[in-house]
Amino acid sequence: MACVSYPYEYDAPVSQTLFDRASLVTPGGVNSPVRAFRAVGGTPRFMVSGKGPYLTDADGREYVDLVCSWGPMILGHSHPDVIAAVQEAVARGTSFGTPGEGEVALAEEIVARIEPVEQVRLVSSGTEATMSAIRLARGFTGRAKVIKFAGCYHGHVDALLAAAGSGLATFGLPDTPGVTGAQAGDTIVLPYNDLDAVHAAFHAHPGEIACVITEASPGNMGVVPPADGFNAGLKAACAKNGALFISDEVMTGFRTSKAGWYGVDGVKPDLMTFGKVMGGGFPAAAFGGRADVMAHLAPAGPVYQAGTLSGNPVATAAGLAQLRLLDDAAYAKVDAVSSEIQSLVTAALAKEGVAHRLQTASNMFSVFFTPDEVRDYEGAKKQEAFRFTAFFHAMLANGVYLPPSAFESWFVSTAHDERAIERIAAALPAAARAAAEATA
Ligand code: PLP
Repeated sequence: MACVSYPYEYDAPVSQTLFDRASLVTPGGVNSPVRAFRAVGGTPRFMVSGKGPYLTDADGREYVDLVCSWGPMILGHSHPDVIAAVQEAVARGTSFGTPGEGEVALAEEIVARIEPVEQVRLVSSGTEATMSAIRLARGFTGRAKVIKFAGCYHGHVDALLAAAGSGLATFGLPDTPGVTGAQAGDTIVLPYNDLDAVHAAFHAHPGEIACVITEASPGNMGVVPPADGFNAGLKAACAKNGALFISDEVMTGFRTSKAGWYGVDGVKPDLMTFGKVMGGGFPAAAFGGRADVMAHLAPAGPVYQAGTLSGNPVATAAGLAQLRLLDDAAYAKVDAVSSEIQSLVTAALAKEGVAHRLQTASNMFSVFFTPDEVRDYEGAKKQEAFRFTAFFHAMLANGVYLPPSAFESWFVSTAHDERAIERIAAALPAAARAAAEATA
């Protein structure tokens, strides 16, 4: 039963009770930091159900969801075909610990869609995918060092938790305790969109760099797309120096086009990582790429990698059902919904004279509260994040659930219909006003 009177109360008593219970048994009351609302304050909403573009919380309030589970729910929540595929798979058993046809079909679907992926290995999370891709790159090249970019998040892989975005951007943690100097010592962190810095790093470490890993188009410091030629420049620098180019498409994969960001810029990586959309809301992820590189992976080759639940039959059924529904028409719909919402947001903020910059990467977008183009993490951090806090709470009170951080992409789905867009349009004027009136 959804509440229909806006604005909702700032307090959410049932969520608060659940959060209090959670905080006793789980650090910070959540199982992934950015869910905790620490960047924006207030009570994290405990959701009880999702249908199409809507989430309903434990207090019975309905929200238009612009987070989509941080990307995966590109068809909206509880899509009937995905649910049917899951129910059918569950009825046959939930995990066998043996190979199964679903894994083959999902791998074939990925290989068919994404030309640089000749072979693929399924895992259970984006973190596992990037961790395994880095290990493989090191095993293949016999080199230790890894280049990553400030503000790019590749999951909580020890070696990559240096100047990462996402939750770390939100919390302003430059690094994390628990990662030793040895684990991070082979990671070279460079400013995003700075090819000169990449060339200088290769020059300073000849024959030592195993790979460059980058988000194909970053969404974890807010949306900061690659400058023209940046990804191609990375690819060329890697090729010239005997390093592998790893494109992390956990967020962009199967979202920004049928073939992810590769479908947008056509730059061919040596290895790629995937997650989110390909799991249909279940824990499924993957890494893949050149067959000669993938041949180094156990049991075909010496680089060890494994997983009890890798290729899980329920997760692969959900992922496959979702990918099969993602045809050209579906992407056209997501793109159209995204541009409509983008226009509404810009118009509302402009009307209130709020300095902002809305940046896009295909249908991914985010709003920076700064007048300047954001090209890297330093630029992202210059925004007036306190304005986002006010904006976020006004949207929430008016039935729109945004990512609870100014450093995250917003996500839409094929299920965002006219009613959902009208709710967003109705919520925006008060939110833009709140952003205009906010003080640091
Ligand atoms: N890589 C990118 C680009 C991501 O956005 C994320 C998660 O947000 C990850 C890797 C890690 O994925 P997971 O949270 O499934 O471990």
